[in-house]
Amino acid sequence: MTDKTIHKTIIIGSGPAGLTAAIYAGRANLKPIVFEGNQPGGQLTITTDVENFPGFPDGVMGPDMMDLFRNQAKKFGAECHFKHVTKVDLTSKPYRVFVGEEVFLSDTVIISTGASARMLGLEEEEQLMGYGISTCATCDGYFFKEKNIVVVGGGDSAMEEASFLTKFAKKVTIIHRREVFKASKIMLDRVRNNPLIDIIVNKSIESINGNQQDGISNIVLKDTVSGETSTFECEGVFYGIGHTPNTDLFKGMIDLNDNGYIITQSDSSLTNIPGVFACGDVQDDHYRQAITAAGSGCMAAIDAEKYLEENIIE
Ligand SMILES: Cc1cc2nc3c(=O)[nH]c(=O)nc-3n(C[C@H](O)[C@H](O)[C@H](O)COP(=O)(O)OP(=O)(O)OC[C@H]3O[C@@H](n4cnc5c(N)ncnc54)[C@H](O)[C@@H]3O)c2cc1C
Repeated sequence: MTDKTIHKTIIIGSGPAGLTAAIYAGRANLKPIVFEGNQPGGQLTITTDVENFPGFPDGVMGPDMMDLFRNQAKKFGAECHFKHVTKVDLTSKPYRVFVGEEVFLSDTVIISTGASARMLGLEEEEQLMGYGISTCATCDGYFFKEKNIVVVGGGDSAMEEASFLTKFAKKVTIIHRREVFKASKIMLDRVRNNPLIDIIVNKSIESINGNQQDGISNIVLKDTVSGETSTFECEGVFYGIGHTPNTDLFKGMIDLNDNGYIITQSDSSLTNIPGVFACGDVQDDHYRQAITAAGSGCMAAIDAEKYLEENIIE
């Protein structure tokens, strides 16, 4: 079923980037349509306290903050739909956005589908995320002052997270399932020379024990060579095993970098397709913060508005 209306802008994704784009596009009278996807509100809906978003000196719960974003977008005329986009056709104008059998037409598309932190796949991850498990040292390190923390992973991001966490932790232990590290020599040397960091190799995490009231008490490790299991006491577990950008929909249509992130032109949200813009973590594998995502969402809406003006699309 095709909705014959040609919308001025369709926003795919409802994290800080998408909903900020919706606020700006709404106030510019573009009547944005937001497809929120399977995770309405984005990554912050799986965390607890957010203490680094300006304007909330006492902190704010991630899901509550995203409800505020959505309410603000709706106030300015954004239409938010709990729909997951299944396909896009950006090869001819107006662009076509599919939700199953439904087709929506738009002069511009703002992509803000974010990125997903890679998980270990443990059952307890959902329950303990934000209660001891974290995927972001910059975001959550502060909550682990004087605690024993584990960082999982063997690449540069794990090394970076471990080094950063020594600003707060009593001890940081890197757990890696192999003996050989993917991390660069300089990053490895840095952690090896840091007296606050221990490294345990050839161990994988079997389970994480804790609850939402008291946090984490310990983890069970499995020796990847002998198969033996042991218990390791810690109060925090940080995943440093990378992120996957949510760009499957756009493969072969929009230019992506080697890691699968959308390439935007420098200092803008422009992609290689005129009228298609990208913002937030889907095009940023470096900062990955709510405030930077929101900032780039603002840029995308302004870029879309300018594009519509220049192309005299009423
Ligand atoms: C546990 C955790 C804690 C964090 N804590 C903090 C913190 O304290 N401070 C901070 O600044 N940052 C924090 N971050 C990082 C922050 O959440 C991200 O940088 C930010 O959410 C990125 O925003 P985004 O809008 O780009 O994407 P996301 O928040 O990832 O949102 C992506 C959106 O795209 C939607 N989507 C995906 N595919 C489709 C599709 N096919 N169709 C429609 N919609 C789709 C999803 O449903 C979702 O709404 C944390 C992240 C995690 C995981």
